[in-house]
Amino acid sequence: MTTIHEHFDAIVVGAGPSGNAAAYTMAKAGLNVLQIDRGEYAGSKNVQGAILYADALERLIPDFREEAPLERHVVEQRMWMLDETSHVGAHYRSDDFNEDRPNRYTIIRAQFDQWFARTVREAGALMLTETTVTNLVKDDKGKVIGVETDREGGPIYAEVVILGEGVNGLVGQRAGLRPELSTSHVALAVKEMHFLDQKVIEDRFNLSSEEEGVVIEAVGSVSSGMVGTGFLYTNRESVSIGIGCMLGDFVETAIPPYKLLDRFKSHPSVKPLLQGSEMKEYSAHLIPEGGFSAIPALVGDGWIVVGDAGQFVNSVHREGSNLAMTTGRLAGETVAALKAENKPFTQVNLRAYEAALKDSYVIKDLKKYRRMPDTLHANKHLFTDYPHALSSALQTWLRVDGVDKRTKEREMVRTMRAARGGFRGLMSDMWKVARAWR
Ligand SMILES: Cc1cc2nc3c(=O)[nH]c(=O)nc-3n(C[C@H](O)[C@H](O)[C@H](O)COP(=O)(O)OP(=O)(O)OC[C@H]3O[C@@H](n4cnc5c(N)ncnc54)[C@H](O)[C@@H]3O)c2cc1C
Repeated sequence: MTTIHEHFDAIVVGAGPSGNAAAYTMAKAGLNVLQIDRGEYAGSKNVQGAILYADALERLIPDFREEAPLERHVVEQRMWMLDETSHVGAHYRSDDFNEDRPNRYTIIRAQFDQWFARTVREAGALMLTETTVTNLVKDDKGKVIGVETDREGGPIYAEVVILGEGVNGLVGQRAGLRPELSTSHVALAVKEMHFLDQKVIEDRFNLSSEEEGVVIEAVGSVSSGMVGTGFLYTNRESVSIGIGCMLGDFVETAIPPYKLLDRFKSHPSVKPLLQGSEMKEYSAHLIPEGGFSAIPALVGDGWIVVGDAGQFVNSVHREGSNLAMTTGRLAGETVAALKAENKPFTQVNLRAYEAALKDSYVIKDLKKYRRMPDTLHANKHLFTDYPHALSSALQTWLRVDGVDKRTKEREMVRTMRAARGGFRGLMSDMWKVARAWR
């Protein structure tokens, strides 16, 4: 193993989207950057659905489409509400999404992260893989001045350390910069990759080329009464299917995550989409879903937190990697600007990163949905009562059985009201959700 004696401008912990974005931004600005990841290669252990939101990456690497390993761009979004036997769906499909620079793509993270990390290296950063950062090194005033790793040769020093270590945030926690992760602030997601012939995917999802893709997001009985959602995304020659629910709910219900995924896969609306596929990969990962109030301290003397380590996930819109890249870029820009002005990396100076975050969609969106985690937690019936009631009402409407339409309409209204113990229950739910949405 090579021993690193150099003193770096910045050390970035992690080579996920947040760490890569930070390292890329600083390397491009001419800083001497070391990036460290514990994986065998960047992305080797990373898990995502995965939808890539182009805008966040485009702001870093405008021509990324020429080289990045992309699967399909999304032309259709399906949103399903499931009960045990049915789904009520809203589908939005538009040929406008077949634009020159599509807005959303499906990707395979292991390939994507490898490409991104290579691009970071080409920009001039030094990358160490198969190396775990075990702790932060502080001077006698408590300023972070480097990292300890599981490599031989002692600590590695830098002016500033950027923590893009992902949801567990163990390095920050061990160094006393953040509290332990709470089970009410994280979801546990399990995911499988099912391989299918490319042509079968196109026929099955009504796609006209190997470039076009469909994504499905599902709520309802799929989460067995827990707060959670399922997803199914089309890649070129595979389909990614997964489900995530709050970790605290898994603990409470004692439902094994793989059983929940099995249930989702065997739902009559989902099963035909996977028929004949070969399952090749199973993975599980946490997602920070505590929202705005769960964001830990983000800066201190000599350190900054980016991406999942900062709880930057918008669970309502299922966005995470874009927030990771944006926070990484903003942190990188903050560091590069301080370096250019020859200013020290004190907590006060690094607060420029927090100010940039507040100005961005990252904090604006998380703030907007700040009530959502607690509202969903306190109203789990939203995931069970409504899918059943809607499905039942629609069956009444659609079955032609000699009952006149006015009677059917009355029955449908009765079904919906009964689901929540009357009109007042319905109004109260609508108010709670509208308030959390504001
Ligand atoms: C099942 C699932 C589906 C998802 N779907 C989507 C989606 O469709 N779209 C979307 O935008 N987001 C999605 N997300 C969220 C998205 O994956 C994350 O928000 C994003 O990966 C966060 O990036 P990050 O760089 O902060 O962390 P990570 O991607 O977790 O990267 C952290 C890196 O740090 C390294 N590391 C950790 N600790 C150490 C250490 N001590 N020393 C050295 N290296 C270390 C890890 O090896 C890893 O490479 C999904 C997440 C899951 C789990």
